[in-house]
Amino acid sequence: MNLDLNVFSSILLFSGSFNLFVALLLFQRLEKRLKPFSYIMIAISIWALGYGVQLSSHTYNQILFSTYLEYVGIASTPALWQIAIIRFIGKEKWLAGNRLALIFLIPVTTMVLLLTNEHHYLYYSTLELVQYRGMAFLEITKGPWYMVNTAYFYTMLLWGLYLLVAQFKIDDKIYKKQRNVIVLGALGPWLFNVTYQVGYKPFLYLDLTPYAFILTSIIVSLGFFRYKLFEFAPIAKEKVFDVIQEGVLVLDRLDRVASMNPEMRHILKHVSMDIIGQDAKAVFPGNQEFQGLVSSQKNRGLELELWDEEKLRTFSVSSTSMFEDQLYTGKIIIFRDVTEFYAREKMRLLMQKKDDFLSIASHELKTPLTTMKGYLKIAEGIADKLEDPSCRDFIRKAGKQTDKLAGLINDLLDVSKIESGKMQYHLEDFPISEVIEDCIDFANNTSSNHIVVLEGNSDLQVRADRNRLEQVICNLLSNAIKYSPESPVVSINVSQHGSFCHVSVKDLGIGIPRQKHEQLFQKFYRAENVEQRFAGLGIGLFIANEIVLRHGGKMTIDSEEGKGATFSFLVPLATEAH
Ligand code: ADP
Repeated sequence: MNLDLNVFSSILLFSGSFNLFVALLLFQRLEKRLKPFSYIMIAISIWALGYGVQLSSHTYNQILFSTYLEYVGIASTPALWQIAIIRFIGKEKWLAGNRLALIFLIPVTTMVLLLTNEHHYLYYSTLELVQYRGMAFLEITKGPWYMVNTAYFYTMLLWGLYLLVAQFKIDDKIYKKQRNVIVLGALGPWLFNVTYQVGYKPFLYLDLTPYAFILTSIIVSLGFFRYKLFEFAPIAKEKVFDVIQEGVLVLDRLDRVASMNPEMRHILKHVSMDIIGQDAKAVFPGNQEFQGLVSSQKNRGLELELWDEEKLRTFSVSSTSMFEDQLYTGKIIIFRDVTEFYAREKMRLLMQKKDDFLSIASHELKTPLTTMKGYLKIAEGIADKLEDPSCRDFIRKAGKQTDKLAGLINDLLDVSKIESGKMQYHLEDFPISEVIEDCIDFANNTSSNHIVVLEGNSDLQVRADRNRLEQVICNLLSNAIKYSPESPVVSINVSQHGSFCHVSVKDLGIGIPRQKHEQLFQKFYRAENVEQRFAGLGIGLFIANEIVLRHGGKMTIDSEEGKGATFSFLVPLATEAH
């Protein structure tokens, strides 16, 4: 390609490249809704660059080639302008389906007819190379499609301006500023183009339109960077109406349905008739309360239950009447889906009731149980005196069951204490061996078939609540015994772990499937492999874990189904012990 630069072409080539650079920057920065404006800038840059090359060319072929390049910009500008405006005013749905293709139909036809012009002369009827002031130009006569393309160009321009001015009703100042910049930015160069088209040519063959366009494009884009003009994308009011998550029904002054948003349409999908224009009372004909809300000019609210496929949904319905000069003009009825909220609230109340019941029931059970234990003690004394071994045995068994019952009730009470945050902890320093020995005694009393082996350094001094720590270890030991009926050895290991004492209780029993480990510390959770065979409530581990957590420690599980289980936890060492 041979370029003979001159003032006219240099200006275009330089400003076209600069504009292209700014357009690419904007393309990256602008948000989706405003992005098409950067496409227009790219098209204008191509137009300017194409014309710049044309003005630096002398041969017929090179001028023709640069015209093709120029036309990529010229033909696509009006289509891109349409898209940019439609996006800007928030009517994206106008671009759905094949409408986008329709917008590009004329630009594509223009390009095809231009490229094949020498076969039909529909775009340019004649083309002739002329020389003027040392430069070469193509002198053309306009063909029929040239007219179509020009008409398309202006129609699209006017249509876009109409949309901007008439359809885009928005009150916020910043959006008005944006709109005005776009309107002025578009009007300037187009006025130039009109004058060119009607024959005003101060430099004879020179078309000044690309100069005007490129100038405006640069000014507008620099305006963007300087004043951050386009950082706020406007949201058309109808758009808000469309996307709002509540169902909105608008009634006119005669209480007929004037309009509704898509969500409302969804809520009313069971209503077979087209309700626009109908009396709103007909929407729920059997519902007196709704009829009342519709007829009243006061703002009202009610609850409505509606079927949505197989689900019953609850809506909180509220009406707001509108007045102009004290005359009633209609009302807005809003349907808010509160199904989930109600379900959650119901569940919360139910849980609350359950917790209250547990707390009250276990308190009430504790008193007669304490009395029973007292009487059993007296009965034991009497049986000793009577020297009746079977009677003594029965009383001993009754005592054991009473202890079990007391244990369960204490656990339930602990759960409600934990839930209400009322569990008290009395921290003191003591050797953990004291607690462990008591727990081993307790375990030996529980089962004569098991032996508990103590390993590691049990002399470590810990800082903890003695009774609560005992509760944790006893729970782990009794679980280890309960869930390993076939394996007699249970081991307890104590070691130092930084500033913590690490305690682990290991058995070789039924184990726990890996995927259930996370749920084990949940209240009332019991794994499937124990449910039928072993008695229990599923709260021991929940309490133990809470106690460990409150001591600043952590409980972990290592287990596989059928291969035994090891439960470990950390409890802080006494300060002087580390
Ligand atoms: P409970 O023993 O009363 O069911 P826990 O809260 O103490 O309640 O234990 C919860 C569940 O954890 C048990 O039901 C059981 O599924 C599982 N589990 C606890 N310890 C062991 C263990 N040593 N071996 C196997 N499973 C265990």
